Amino acid sequence: MRKPPPNPHDLSRHDLDDILGTINEEVRQRFGEGEVADYIPSLADVPKDRFGMALALLDGKIHEVGHSRERFSIQSLSKVHTLTLALEAVGDGLWRRVDREPSGDPFNSLIQLEHEKGIPRNPFMNAGALICADVILSNFDDAEATLLAFMRARSGNPEVGTDEAVAKSERESGHRNVAMANFIRSYDNLDNDVQDVLDFYYLQCSLCMDCVDLARSVQYLADGGHCGASGVQVTTAEGATRINSVMMTAGTYDAAGDFAYYVGLPAKSGVGGGIAAVVPHVMGLCVWSPGLDEKGNSLLGRYALHRFTRMTGLSVF
Ligand code: GLU
Repeated sequence: MRKPPPNPHDLSRHDLDDILGTINEEVRQRFGEGEVADYIPSLADVPKDRFGMALALLDGKIHEVGHSRERFSIQSLSKVHTLTLALEAVGDGLWRRVDREPSGDPFNSLIQLEHEKGIPRNPFMNAGALICADVILSNFDDAEATLLAFMRARSGNPEVGTDEAVAKSERESGHRNVAMANFIRSYDNLDNDVQDVLDFYYLQCSLCMDCVDLARSVQYLADGGHCGASGVQVTTAEGATRINSVMMTAGTYDAAGDFAYYVGLPAKSGVGGGIAAVVPHVMGLCVWSPGLDEKGNSLLGRYALHRFTRMTGLSVF
């Protein structure tokens, strides 16, 4: 009789530190590949020879390698957390204002918005994140304090904060985001003042965290909505499953298909070079390396996640 394949979810089968060490060695050989996101001037100076990776297991254990404690600009990784907050505030009503389909277009594209009458394709494109920002502004007394408290509680790190220089740089260079927000407003799909929505959006993008913080911050999505760092039920198990689904189909820009093919995990990337991912029922994880590929995903980060899922068998497929 054919023997059943080994269960990759049995973590005692893997030497996770050894696997991370191998990945770190491989990635270091490739330092310099990819381009940093220079369309936001303050991100242009980040050195490319950086790589960090952290795993946050459900029992609270952390495995990490490389520059896993170096803070970086989380950028669009924050869209996972603001989606969670927006869903908490208005539930499924959110989906009347933003869709949950992959876009096939770049994260800052305006093209679909006119065809689709101001309803962004998904909450992980900039346009969709502006809707979540608007919902949060409408539903929480102090939106900024709420987001900051959320990030600190999810990561278990009370020192998580924002980088004012990055927020300023985005404010000064975010012409496309300004256009997008005004365009959505013209379809009556923003309730708050456009500038307030943009300011909140720039603030969320300017959050500074390290790989360990970020791996912990998405761990609730691996644990049926329960956050290990704070002991709080952040969302329902169904909510976590749904957010993971949107990450899988739309979390890595217009390379989500390619990402599913090579990595096979729900993930969200940001132009600061971070990628947060989820192995459902097993762990939250984060990789960071600032050089990006042509779609805006961390080139070496994607490689590291590919190697990780292949070495462990921990992909959802
Ligand atoms: N702050 C960036 C922007 O608005 C976020 C892009 C990203 O990380 O996907 O363009």
